[in-house]
Amino acid sequence: MLTAIATAVDEPLTLTEREVPEPGQGEVLVKITACGICHTDLDLLQGQWPIARFPVVPGHEITGVVAATGPGVSWPEVGVSVGAQFLGDSCRHCDYCVRGEQILCPQKRITGIVMDGGYAEYAVLKADFVTPLPEGLDPVAAAPLMCAGLTAFNSLRQAGTTATSRVAVIGAGGVGALAVRYAVAMGARVAVIGRSNRGEGAAREMGAERFIATQDSDPAEALRAWDGGANVILNATPSTAAASATLTGLAPDGTLVLCGYDSEPLTLPTQPMVLNRLHAMLNPSGSPHDARDTLAFSAAHGILPEFTSIGLRDANTVLDAMAKGRSGKRSIITFD
Ligand SMILES: [Zn+2]
Ligand SMILES: [Zn+2]
Repeated sequence: MLTAIATAVDEPLTLTEREVPEPGQGEVLVKITACGICHTDLDLLQGQWPIARFPVVPGHEITGVVAATGPGVSWPEVGVSVGAQFLGDSCRHCDYCVRGEQILCPQKRITGIVMDGGYAEYAVLKADFVTPLPEGLDPVAAAPLMCAGLTAFNSLRQAGTTATSRVAVIGAGGVGALAVRYAVAMGARVAVIGRSNRGEGAAREMGAERFIATQDSDPAEALRAWDGGANVILNATPSTAAASATLTGLAPDGTLVLCGYDSEPLTLPTQPMVLNRLHAMLNPSGSPHDARDTLAFSAAHGILPEFTSIGLRDANTVLDAMAKGRSGKRSIITFD
């Protein structure tokens, strides 16, 4: 099978032919339909994952069809369409695992970082950590829902978004666009924060009632003028500073959640935070039940990302462009 392997930090992916692996106890072999290219894949190659186990096959936005099952697997059967995500395995017996919050397991294992992922024609995955794809969901467009979608959806949920929330999304491309559409579909009122007014039309088309351009106004002040502030602010840009600049735009008891961040520290204005019990949170994708809910909600509301499909041989080119900050629509590797 054609496979792309991350061999070391700062090295391009190596394309090679490998034997199709055999599923072991509790595992399934999945013939991959599509694998989205996530910013985390670039972080891996740039050495930002000290836990990485090189050589490793990257990719954790996977959809495919079960081709074989290992011993002890009663579900999924051969032929079932599934998705696989960032969380690839966990200990299954700690307090978090038994509560269904496997994403918080101290022993969790990450697909495409320590376990081989989806930059290959086949992958062996843990049966308990794959998600059934709802019928009617396009398996290629659904691939990024397994990370970008899951992270956006679950961040909104963990931050306590309800039908009466005011949600501000910083950056409305990619993950941000999904977050805007999820928040609107959850019944929340939505504001989008962008650098210039260029994205305003698209934001309003997705259902945002307000657009704040940071080149014209202070985003925290503009949010406070929005009926007292946002209950949830979701940062979908790769800038921690952009998130810090909005914190005092939260309404009391509000939560800033960062889906995107860089190596800059988050600046916390402690006095307004204590007076108003403000929260700041980073959310690492989600547990298996969150992935199921993300797919079900996306299917029910017709929320799918915009994407460009590419071949595995183009993965290095896409990752290079991403490193230079020139990424457009989500790129999805597809296999025949
Ligand atoms: Zn555990
Ligand atoms: Zn990801």
